[in-house]
Amino acid sequence: MIQTRRGLLIILSSPSGAGKSTLARRLRDWDPDIEFSVSATTRAPRPGEQDGREYHFIDEASFKANVSEGGMLEHAHVFGNFYGSPLEPVRNAIDGGRDVLFDIDWQGAQQITNSALGAHTLSIFLLPPSIAELRSRLEKRAQDDADTIARRMAKSWDEISHWGAYDFVLVNDDLDATEAQLKTIVTATRLRRSQQPGLTEHVRRLQSEFEELT
Ligand code: ADP
Ligand code: 5GP
Repeated sequence: MIQTRRGLLIILSSPSGAGKSTLARRLRDWDPDIEFSVSATTRAPRPGEQDGREYHFIDEASFKANVSEGGMLEHAHVFGNFYGSPLEPVRNAIDGGRDVLFDIDWQGAQQITNSALGAHTLSIFLLPPSIAELRSRLEKRAQDDADTIARRMAKSWDEISHWGAYDFVLVNDDLDATEAQLKTIVTATRLRRSQQPGLTEHVRRLQSEFEELT
């Protein structure tokens, strides 16, 4: 029948601890064809993080060289470290009709939305049910020391203040409910006209079939 699908750039942002990584994992368990954009960062790995899986851990000089060579789709300075999304894997996935999932902050979301790939972007912002719950999730995650948690909490309002720039906003209270909403949004956005490049040809075919009748 018709058309190959065009790949979608799915952006998830939220204040740290609201549930991006958890929901990103669930979305990819649901559809393993969704590729995760592995960012490069100058921050140190957390316990359990593997180079090339959660992040590409690189030093600042390599990061800056990569940016100046045009190797990053977007990049930003967050919590005192550089983070960026390598461009080439994204291009390959999108050209091959595969979706790419980004766990990035508002600065990165803004850069991608305003780039040449903006028309193929779906941006989703996650809000916590309350600030007390956000703190409790950061503490429960137990991956950061008290200072880092305090810094992340202090920055959370900065991130939340950009909620209005996203296509969809979900309050991540009940995890299963948020997961279901996320899947609904992705499923619907895949059907956007701009994501179905074969539609024009299909409609032309319908037109000639129709004209043969008349
Ligand atoms: P982020 O990637 O946004 O920093 P995580 O996905 O690491 O956040 O989630 C932070 C912590 O909160 C994790 O321990 C995760 O299991 C937990 N969590 C995520 N979503 C929920 C939810 N809806 N209800 C309760 N706990 C949650
Ligand atoms: P963390 O250190 O907790 O893994 O990430 C800190 C923040 O940086 C999170 O808000 C995360 O979404 C953001 N981030 C991770 N990778 C990138 C990236 O490639 N680009 C941008 N702009 N932000 C990123």
